[in-house]
Amino acid sequence: MPSGTDERQRELFERAADFARESLNDDIPGRNRDGVFDRAAWKLCAEFGLLKMAIPDEGESMPRLSDLIAVMEGLGYGSDDQGLLFSLNAHLWTTMVPLVLYGTQEQRERYLPGLADGTLIGANASTEPEAGSDVYAMKTTARPADGGGYFLDGTKTYITSAPVADLLVIYATLDEKAGPLGITAFLVEADTPGLERSPAFDKMGLRTAAMGRVDLRQCWVPDSAVLGRPGRGSWVFESAMEYERGSILAACLGVMRRQVEKAVQHARRRQQFGEPIGKFQAVSHRIAEMKVRLDAARALVQRIGVLKDEGKDATLEAAVAKLYVSEAYVQSSLDAVRLQGAKGYLSANAESWQLRDAVGSLLYSGTSDIQHNIIARELGL
Ligand SMILES: Cc1cc2nc3c(=O)[nH]c(=O)nc-3n(C[C@H](O)[C@H](O)[C@H](O)COP(=O)(O)OP(=O)(O)OC[C@H]3O[C@@H](n4cnc5c(N)ncnc54)[C@H](O)[C@@H]3O)c2cc1C
Repeated sequence: MPSGTDERQRELFERAADFARESLNDDIPGRNRDGVFDRAAWKLCAEFGLLKMAIPDEGESMPRLSDLIAVMEGLGYGSDDQGLLFSLNAHLWTTMVPLVLYGTQEQRERYLPGLADGTLIGANASTEPEAGSDVYAMKTTARPADGGGYFLDGTKTYITSAPVADLLVIYATLDEKAGPLGITAFLVEADTPGLERSPAFDKMGLRTAAMGRVDLRQCWVPDSAVLGRPGRGSWVFESAMEYERGSILAACLGVMRRQVEKAVQHARRRQQFGEPIGKFQAVSHRIAEMKVRLDAARALVQRIGVLKDEGKDATLEAAVAKLYVSEAYVQSSLDAVRLQGAKGYLSANAESWQLRDAVGSLLYSGTSDIQHNIIARELGL
């Protein structure tokens, strides 16, 4: 960890990295090839204490984000199961944090213990086939039912953990014409009649994360399923996105750090033209750029931790972090392949799947174009 990080976070990072090295690296090439989500590893992460960190300490209203970021970086440093770590992130930022911030006492008591001890997996369902970046154009409706509650109808897609989740935060509109003001968030248990899920999609990267579709047909939920207030789902969504954009790439910092270390070792050892390739400036400068990107990316993510721990808004800074870190992660992952040569291109080697995992980061939690739009908007443009 860098010198700016306090002792407590250095310790959290080391403990998480040790745990991940020992417990999360079982047959990653095989599980990546076959696209297998590992529920047992999820449970181990919960037992390690990761998920309960999203629940604020006694007397606090928010979780300590800097600590969570340090742990996530440690997990990413110790393990290459980025699909699992990505799914855990989605669960933390878009299910647990919204429950902590907007849940009623009853909702929190009902769901937070299971979400923290690994028995319940959470998912966030906002994207639809015709509403991706333009999320508030969603067509999934919430129609008040005569005897109370709501009927949900519509389709959500590209939902992380949908095929394996137990609890979904589903966004639907009470009034399509009202845009963001019609959106309402609902806590929906996966076995609710009228909710169907697809099997896991086959995808390019993050293959150990289970992504799928959710179909809602006359899916009745009680009034007590509303998270936050009716018509105020955009508040829930925006605050979840602020946490997610700012923190979801913390685990990737761990990967970027390993990439730098491995690149240095390889450039010292691999000989071409009678000398180590690290003696060629084209190679050593490429690795120097990887190091610069890593340090800049880490500072941007840690800034989110500091801001949120001080109770400050981080909308702008979260978009800056998401944009910079995802682009840096892809570039460094591509450089890691280049440095290994053909070996890095083989599917069995980490460089190849790290690059495929990294590409997803340009899309989830808002694409890079959307982060540019948010930054411009926050600057008053
Ligand atoms: C790995 C992964 C996990 C995901 N997990 C979830 C999840 O758990 N829950 C969930 O709800 N969704 C999830 N998504 C979906 C994700 O939120 C969407 O993919 C994302 O919002 C983009 O929407 P889209 O794919 O429909 O692309 P589109 O919105 O169709 O965008 C296509 C292209 O147009 C560009 N574009 C669109 N609008 C603008 C604009 N105004 N200005 C500039 N450029 C623009 C985009 O940047 C992109 O390049 C996930 C996606 C991925 C890849």
